[in-house]
Amino acid sequence: MFLTITTTGTPDRPATDLGYLLHKHPGKAQVFSTSYGKAHVLYPEAEDQRCTAALLLEVDAVALVRRGKGKGRGGAPDAALAQYVNDRPYAASSLLAVALSAVFSSAMRGVCTARPELPGQARPLRIEVPVLPARGGPDLVRRLFEPLGWEVRVEAVPLDVEFPEWGDSRYVRLELESTQLTVSDALRHLYVLLPVLDDAKHYWVSADEVDKLMRAGGAWLYHHPEVKLITNRYLSRRWSLTREAMERLELVRLAEADDSEVEEIDNAVEAETETEERPTPLAVQRRDAILDALRVSGAARVLDLGCGQGQLVQALLKDVRFTEIVGVDVSVRALTIASRRLKLDRMGERQASRVKLFQGSLAYTDNRLKGYDAAVLSEVIEHLDLPRLPALEYAVFGAARPRTVLVTTPNVEYNVRWESLPAGHVRHGDHRFEWTREEFRAWAGAVAERHGYAVEFVAVGPDDPEVGPPTQMAVFEQRNLNEKEAKAA
Ligand code: SAH
Repeated sequence: MFLTITTTGTPDRPATDLGYLLHKHPGKAQVFSTSYGKAHVLYPEAEDQRCTAALLLEVDAVALVRRGKGKGRGGAPDAALAQYVNDRPYAASSLLAVALSAVFSSAMRGVCTARPELPGQARPLRIEVPVLPARGGPDLVRRLFEPLGWEVRVEAVPLDVEFPEWGDSRYVRLELESTQLTVSDALRHLYVLLPVLDDAKHYWVSADEVDKLMRAGGAWLYHHPEVKLITNRYLSRRWSLTREAMERLELVRLAEADDSEVEEIDNAVEAETETEERPTPLAVQRRDAILDALRVSGAARVLDLGCGQGQLVQALLKDVRFTEIVGVDVSVRALTIASRRLKLDRMGERQASRVKLFQGSLAYTDNRLKGYDAAVLSEVIEHLDLPRLPALEYAVFGAARPRTVLVTTPNVEYNVRWESLPAGHVRHGDHRFEWTREEFRAWAGAVAERHGYAVEFVAVGPDDPEVGPPTQMAVFEQRNLNEKEAKAA
């Protein structure tokens, strides 16, 4: 099994930078042991103008079978010979993908300590795989790689060159070229798509396959027109895993859409600080209302669930009564911006010990969320599909169970007062629903009832006599505190 990556260079960006990017010195041939055999990395050419790295995987077919991992092809289990005499050693496949991730793991993650600027840079890349099993043929190969920005050259390999009338084998010869992608992109694409094309994973697909798929594909997969086929084949058609992966990809998509909303709010806030006489933006009024409610509750350790780009976390940090502040969001991008906003890397130790950001989804119970005084869900619930709301309800009110929970959401009745909003439209393209005051009260009341909380409602923004305020907030307080806890509270 064989794969090459070639790049060309310019005087200021020599091709041999590939050595840094792959963390493998161009002057050396190296061997790595994997559980299926040996992986060799060598550079057939390493000049400033052109540099090629080759990954050669020598599969130990016997070891593969002994490990009980050789039954990929779905043949009869008693076809003993087929386990030893098969194409595994010769054809690039899921084994090559595993070797790629083992040998080039930092490169795949886009990490390069020696030259941190390199991984983010796109460069001319050419990838060749001389023999690739491709169920679906050249057509599918194109459908998989072209949407990712690759120029694809793919040819079916004839079954036997001497007998063209026998037709094509299920192998193709593949060449990919691009000038717009990074080495990390390329490795991630191959890591996911080689096994998809092979469509016969050599090892048993376990639940952490979904994590692997998310790590390698999270950033590009959900935009891909073939996302369903890729996910389903990658997970060996295990429907429950496919469903889980599709849900997680959906969250990533949602989170990205939300970023633009948060940016808009941010701009509004910045504009506000320049011209004092304008009315206070709703986002600021909302944050103030939340801070007030938290102070009243006496909370010191606070969760900001769906914290977005960290504006509330930043405001909480300014008040010393909040001793521990945790921002959680499903969007890595939002969290990255949040940590930049907070200057987490330059913060003094004391301040830094008060704040934590981590990625998590509110649709799943999470032990890290247990034991806090209060949780804030500011403009988050309307981003979940209604059928997912009970999962969030359980994760927050059933499992994490902070003493106080604050939930804000738009009041849809107020939409008629927004001049720029066409009738019948929601405020943001990504809102899955917007509720009337009555709908919100009904939901919040039922949640409180089910989980032993008392709930009160607060208007945020101008409370219009007819349609109510633009934002509605529910303040939940846990009811069933035993006496000791109640005293401590
Ligand atoms: N709380 C912030 C951001 C609101 S935008 C504010 O009030 O300004 C909604 C946020 O919820 C986004 O950052 C989005 O990434 C996050 N989000 C959406 N679904 C989520 C989920 N299931 N788990 C965690 N965060 C989620």
